[in-house]
Amino acid sequence: MFEALGDRLGGVFDTLTGRGALTERDVDAAMREIRKALLEADVALPVVKQFVAKVREEAVGERVIKAVKPGQQVVKIVNDALIQTLGGTLSEDDADMAAVRAASELNLNAKPPVVILMAGLQGSGKTTTTGKLALYLRERAKKKVMLASLDTNRPAAMDQLGMLADKSGTGFLPIVKGQSAVEITQRALKEAAKGGYDVLFLDTAGRTTINEELMAEVIEVARIAQPTETLLVADALTGQDAVETAARFNEALPLTGLVLTRIDGDGRGGAALSMKAVTGLPIKFLGTGEKLDGLEQFDAERLAGRILG
Ligand code: GDP
Repeated sequence: MFEALGDRLGGVFDTLTGRGALTERDVDAAMREIRKALLEADVALPVVKQFVAKVREEAVGERVIKAVKPGQQVVKIVNDALIQTLGGTLSEDDADMAAVRAASELNLNAKPPVVILMAGLQGSGKTTTTGKLALYLRERAKKKVMLASLDTNRPAAMDQLGMLADKSGTGFLPIVKGQSAVEITQRALKEAAKGGYDVLFLDTAGRTTINEELMAEVIEVARIAQPTETLLVADALTGQDAVETAARFNEALPLTGLVLTRIDGDGRGGAALSMKAVTGLPIKFLGTGEKLDGLEQFDAERLAGRILG
């Protein structure tokens, strides 16, 4: 079980209480703990190195040396660095806070039907997340939403999306056998416009590995549909593989954000830290369960708190 980083750091500094000042050696001991904890949490090595260097630079500065409780001070530095790495802000300026909030919102700023393209590996939770986001937009933003499945290789995935549309009370583009993903996209755009839908979700074909043919297909779909959001859904439990997937998809497609699923099974949050650092993309939502209400809007402070424990 992952030992919370905060507890570990507390342990390092227990022996120092009363000494009042931190030496470089003390800081090094703390950095070793941070490094270990992040690696155990499956954070990618280059991200760990970058993160530790950033914290170290801050920690050896004046503030800690003079701090009454250096342990707490280092925990605060780590917390702040986590928030920043995850895409949050330490600023209390209204405009900065609004910009951070906007980054985790869905961009619906286009002529309806606004298109949201969902991409990801098979089993990542892409279809479930499409259903969750549809419900979220219907309930919270009172949007009229249509779902369309482009997974021509897997009829079961199309049926699954249809069932999710029923459960979430949203529209579903009827399945026409034999159509290609591009043909379905064109039909979906037409039907969504005709039906007065505000938002159209295109659930692209799942794939077990990143495959050139499917990638070319989704690039073509994106070109035709002009989505305002292209979200990559990735399974947090796959850790470093999820990071690799995100980097590859990000090279091929104009991604606008990430959704990390199965956060309920990942007490560590390491994948989130890596994926944000590697892609630079905002994390927009977290999947927190199998059910349709298992969705959380991403909040860097909250996740930093979870990682620190
Ligand atoms: P897809 O192949 O990427 O479309 O994946 P699915 O949406 O079919 O999801 C695969 C499995 O993961 C299903 O059993 C889902 O119920 C489950 N799942 C999806 N998101 C989450 C999540 O956030 N937490 C948990 N625990 N399970 C999830």
